[in-house]
Amino acid sequence: MKAFEATRYFFNEAADQLDISEELRELLLMPDREIQVQVTIRRDDGKLANFVGFRVQHDHVRGPMKGGLRYHQEVDLDESRALASLMTWKTAVVNLPYGGAKGGIGVDPAQLSKNEIERLTRAFVDQIHDIVGPDTDIPAPDMGTDHQVMSWFRNQWEKYHGFNPAVITGKPVEEYGAKGREEATGRGVGTLTQKLIKRLGMAPEKTRIAIQGFGNVGSHAAKFLHEGQFPIVAVSDITGTYFNEEGLNLPKLLRHKLAHPKGLLEGFDGAEHLPLDALMKLEHMDVLIPAALGGVITEKNADAIKATVIVEAANGPTNPAADKILNERGVTILPDILANAGGVTVSYFEWVQNRQHYRWSLDRVRQELDHTMNEAFEDVWQMSAQHDVSLRTAAYMIGISRVKRATELAGNA
Ligand code: NAD
Repeated sequence: MKAFEATRYFFNEAADQLDISEELRELLLMPDREIQVQVTIRRDDGKLANFVGFRVQHDHVRGPMKGGLRYHQEVDLDESRALASLMTWKTAVVNLPYGGAKGGIGVDPAQLSKNEIERLTRAFVDQIHDIVGPDTDIPAPDMGTDHQVMSWFRNQWEKYHGFNPAVITGKPVEEYGAKGREEATGRGVGTLTQKLIKRLGMAPEKTRIAIQGFGNVGSHAAKFLHEGQFPIVAVSDITGTYFNEEGLNLPKLLRHKLAHPKGLLEGFDGAEHLPLDALMKLEHMDVLIPAALGGVITEKNADAIKATVIVEAANGPTNPAADKILNERGVTILPDILANAGGVTVSYFEWVQNRQHYRWSLDRVRQELDHTMNEAFEDVWQMSAQHDVSLRTAAYMIGISRVKRATELAGNA
């Protein structure tokens, strides 16, 4: 099943509970605008290279559209469409005054030099600068992009439109970025994992965690949970799975990642090195946190997953068939549109600060983030209990209701 079909399935599960008509479903689900552009750069060796870039703007009824910029070889229109729609429901679940968008370039950034990535980013901005802006569509980092890419993006956009750092979030702190943005998604995942585990009556020090993906989100979630006394028994990145039944030495693991030229775990000697797919099948884990790609939990591997709790740090990691199998087995899934909303929440704080030319302290960012995440968690938990539905369906119900209400108030339906 393709990514957008999966989103449509989850959307419909919630829309059934809300008794929404077919025509309104179509209106809410289909994106406002989709664009595809050619992005051409000159490689360092002098040859030309062409890539395809996408931006999907899903819905703006609750405010300017917000969503990441992904550089990955699997980026295509269908994936961008699914992720843009997830952003609409996500910003609504945490009640930010935003709509949803997403985009990126179909490219493996590991194959490009830093200078080539800069040229690629600037060439992409040349193609899409007219449709993004602080009041229309505000990009942010996602897989394969970081604060440096955000800086290049802003600089190129300002060449056309003048000074306005609020055009993009996830910028470096010294260049109008927000303190705490980089850790935000991982911190939000950690905060809600802790809350969920407590609610389920499990003890942190006996709750073994396995994390797929040790990039921005995975590594920050691991750090936060380690500080909360959770044993992190396994993590993985593109170089394999690193496992230690007693719990990994997190500070050592983080130092290793920092010292590696590409931020990888390759060569880490404090753990058993297992194949990439071993993480999902581990006997020894209670909580699985997918924090890499989408579509990694399917009907093919759902039965092998021993965890009783899944916290979706990645976007769209579980397909509908797997979701059904896991729900039937009583596995608790904290859905992506709630679990990883910490990133967009602090992006919102960054945008607010940029517009006010004012800076918040790290303490204030963390406090407001924790407050937003906790409130959204309580809303979803209550909705799930009230309607006897999964946390995913409950989160979609809240997101869809808020977008539906705004659509009706605007007179659009
Ligand atoms: P990243 O590029 O910083 O890290 C991705 C990590 O996944 C890397 O460690 C990479 O080696 C690893 N990886 C890639 N393929 C893998 C595989 N097959 N098995 C195991 N590991 C693999 O990306 P990120 O920003 O941490 O984003 C991760 C996920 O979180 C994505 O799904 C993204 O959409 C989602 N997300 C990110 C943010 C954010 O603020 N960065 C916010 C919300 C959601």
